[in-house]
Amino acid sequence: MRYLRTMDDATALRADLSGSILVVGAGWIGLEVAAAAREAGAAVTVVESAPLPLGAVLGPELATVFADLHREHGVDLRLATSLASVDHTGGRTTSPPHPSDRTPAGGWATDNGVLVNSRLRASDPHVFAAGDVARQDHPLLGPIRVEHWDTAIHQGRHAARVMLGEDAAYDRQPYFFTDQYDLGMEYVGHTGRGYDEVVVRGDRASRVLTALWVKDSRVVAGMHLNDWDAIDPIRTWVGRPATPQLRDTSIALADVPLVD
Ligand SMILES: Cc1cc2nc3c(=O)[nH]c(=O)nc-3n(C[C@H](O)[C@H](O)[C@H](O)COP(=O)(O)OP(=O)(O)OC[C@H]3O[C@@H](n4cnc5c(N)ncnc54)[C@H](O)[C@@H]3O)c2cc1C
Repeated sequence: MRYLRTMDDATALRADLSGSILVVGAGWIGLEVAAAAREAGAAVTVVESAPLPLGAVLGPELATVFADLHREHGVDLRLATSLASVDHTGGRTTSPPHPSDRTPAGGWATDNGVLVNSRLRASDPHVFAAGDVARQDHPLLGPIRVEHWDTAIHQGRHAARVMLGEDAAYDRQPYFFTDQYDLGMEYVGHTGRGYDEVVVRGDRASRVLTALWVKDSRVVAGMHLNDWDAIDPIRTWVGRPATPQLRDTSIALADVPLVD
């Protein structure tokens, strides 16, 4: 059993991507490993307890795209299937704890991460937290801890500006990407409070599309698959009211009139 958290972990894992591999959990990283292992020629089984991979983020409307993608590439994808036990016969079984699992030495408030206010300041006002370890009181999304590279970069910069005297909340929407086989995806926003509707612009079968998740008549998240000009319009739309024209797929997303 191996963990994948550092560059050294990744380098060591690459040498072992052959033979028969079991990936436990069809999350983003698990599926990226599955894709890399298939491309390296390994036989890959993915076990996922939920009925669809990535269902919590994408919902059933789009999660099926990823299930189909992996099955078409030969992954034995076993959904609604839980791992009962692992019979250990070799390899590493331990890893340093994830930063969010560690108890900070300073004694400031924690709850699934270091609790920080909208300005990224911890309960000790001399302490700031950013990135994976920070559970922020986000002004648009509520309490949230985001494990994405983009958030770590932008929260770090924002915390520095607040330390230098700027009094502004960090309100950037989460952003992340994934590459699996020939599919590239970028996602902006957060559907943590659920959604009422998904507007899909494009074609699921060819996996070139843009999807916008709508909650209470506002766009709360957007994603594209292999539609590389779409990310800027998606970013513009997240947080705005969803208009009837947004659902008119004859109009390019970038040309749909915006409403505040
Ligand atoms: C396998 C994998 C794939 C990923 N893929 C993506 C992706 O495709 N897209 C994406 O957006 N994000 C991805 N992520 C998430 C992304 O890597 C993280 O969100 C990002 O690295 C967070 O940066 P950070 O600086 O907050 O934390 P980290 O990168 O974890 O850095 C924290 C550092 O602090 C050190 N540290 C911890 N505690 C202490 C201590 N007490 N004293 C001193 N040092 C300490 C740690 O060793 C570490 O070096 C991936 C993560 C993993 C593990």
